[in-house]
Amino acid sequence: MDYRQEIAQLRETLNEAGHLYYVLDAPTMSDFEYDRLLRRLEELEAEHPEEVTPDSPTQRIGGKILSQFEQVRHDVPLESLQDVFDAEEVRAFFDRVAQEIPDAAYSVEPKVDGLSVAVEYRDGVFYRGATRGDGRVGEDVTENLRTIRSLPMTLPEKLPRLIVRGEVYMSRSVFEEINARREIEGKPLMANPRNAAAGSLRQLDSRIAAQRKLDIAIFNMQLCEGKTFASHTETIEYLKSQHFKVIPQCCLHTAEEVLGEIDRLGEERGNYPFDIDGAVVKLDDLAQRDMLGSTAKCPRWAVAYKYPPEQKPSVLKDIVIQVGRTGVLTPKAVLAPVRLAGSTVSFATLHNQDFIASKDIRIGDTVIVRKAGEIIPEIVEVVMDKRPADAVPYEIPAQCPVCGAAVARDEDGVALRCTGAECPAQRLRNLTHFVSRNAMDIDGLGPAVINSLIENDLVKNAADLYTLKVEDISPLERMGKKSAANAVAAIEKSKDNDLWRLIAALGIRQVGDKAAKVLASHFGSMDAIVAATEEELTAIDDVGPITAGFIRSWMDSPQSRDLLARLKEAGVNMVDRTEKVDARFAGLTFVLTGALTKFTRDEATEMIELRGGKASGSVSKKTSYVVAGENAGSKLTKAQDLGIPVLTEDEFLQMLD
Ligand code: AMP
Repeated sequence: MDYRQEIAQLRETLNEAGHLYYVLDAPTMSDFEYDRLLRRLEELEAEHPEEVTPDSPTQRIGGKILSQFEQVRHDVPLESLQDVFDAEEVRAFFDRVAQEIPDAAYSVEPKVDGLSVAVEYRDGVFYRGATRGDGRVGEDVTENLRTIRSLPMTLPEKLPRLIVRGEVYMSRSVFEEINARREIEGKPLMANPRNAAAGSLRQLDSRIAAQRKLDIAIFNMQLCEGKTFASHTETIEYLKSQHFKVIPQCCLHTAEEVLGEIDRLGEERGNYPFDIDGAVVKLDDLAQRDMLGSTAKCPRWAVAYKYPPEQKPSVLKDIVIQVGRTGVLTPKAVLAPVRLAGSTVSFATLHNQDFIASKDIRIGDTVIVRKAGEIIPEIVEVVMDKRPADAVPYEIPAQCPVCGAAVARDEDGVALRCTGAECPAQRLRNLTHFVSRNAMDIDGLGPAVINSLIENDLVKNAADLYTLKVEDISPLERMGKKSAANAVAAIEKSKDNDLWRLIAALGIRQVGDKAAKVLASHFGSMDAIVAATEEELTAIDDVGPITAGFIRSWMDSPQSRDLLARLKEAGVNMVDRTEKVDARFAGLTFVLTGALTKFTRDEATEMIELRGGKASGSVSKKTSYVVAGENAGSKLTKAQDLGIPVLTEDEFLQMLD
């Protein structure tokens, strides 16, 4: 087969499989097979770059980086909708319509909470897409729309021009997945799926947009050249046949049925994969729509019904404490299950101790729970009449429920935080901080690698890093021998770090790299810091009483003592070398040989290194001095041969002074 034919065939097969998978949710091809065909297509396109077209399935991963979005004028404006808030207002809408159209038929659709876009096809091929903007002029987000797998790049019927309107959204499951990942990576969390979708669609780098796995629901035909339709439902049926993922529930209802339909949709809204902030009621007949026309901003033939936030009573069965990855203790209400805003609610956030105290929430209370479509349920108030006689005020425990360490109030005065240096709930955060650039600066250990080290029980705390071997790390996902060896080498190298790096790496609250440098140079060694009193700590510039308190309580915890002892044993540097560099030693290399009587070899090595010199095991032309003890052997001879100065133990001591 000619390569052009093969490319065409691969594209067709992949597009079809993509439609079944992303639009119809009915995959027929295994992921493995899909990836295999995609790789083959990539190969062929790499060999024949002139064959790459923008609508190829290989172009879905993004690539272009823009400096700004171009403006696009919408040929058909993207109108707003008039909001209505209760049944009466919906009836008023029917009455207005009935004045001109007696027996109108309506569609009732979920109002997807995302971002409106217009997408244009020319000759059946995706041409361009733009955000709503002010309804008349929007931003060109073509590159990012291309990454949305459920948006077809080619259509079965090649009409000269077709413009559709849809809502770009991030499904709840993708939103949760992305936020979980961001939490591990220490990035700020996205507030809700709508904001996440908005931020992603407006990325100038389409590769980032591609990673956000956006989706789109098409709910209107804006313009169609070469075909005419009588009704909205007909257009939606047609768009479905053209492989678009269309808005669900688009079907006909009489005015009498509409209110029941709105209620039913409200009851079901928790089951949709996307957030819904209302129901849209639209007149179906397109000629009738034209008759009614539009106001300055909104069509007269449609309204958006906004669901009120729902609230119901439930019983607070228990309060459980969750310890987040940053150590913050968050109380969570365990409720008797209630149905709210289309889903069953059995938990609610209690935010923090102050929230519980201000509402005097107690276990056993009957509470009013509220949930608007898209937000986490919360407790509005306590029904005081129903309070059991034995209910007692609630206090968050003083010990971390995960590791038992003391809990301390944050500097913001609100959050309660576990102080345990080794709290399992905080391992990932602590370790990620330990290796970070302004701490021990260990390359090759990103959050994902650390996460799998923890999950595979290879590390619990920073000291465990120093016991890792290449064969421990290389089997981990996405590692391999080379990166494992690099990571182990980087860990090894970090043993020689300046003391301040270790101090900063411990994750003591309010002790960042700046305070760590001050502490290192003032105290000179970890032992001296461990022994320092709160007064001694506060006496230093830059260390206030609060920070001194954090340092002391960290140092006093048995978990911390154990950690430091193990780090020391592993050979991590515990003394400050930076301040004491002696000009006479800097850059000099010493070789110790023979039996030293006044100090051990290790002590001598430390004394040299403290002053900025180096100790080496063998004599070469680069050796500056050889310190010879009793019975010195071959090294002394070699030094003499090379003419390198030889010092006795006493001469060496004099030099140290
Ligand atoms: P608003 O922005 O509150 O005026 O509401 C109108 C917006 O609702 C439109 O711009 C669309 O982005 C959005 N929308 C979501 N789902 C639908 C739908 N099924 N039909 C019409 N508009 C919808």
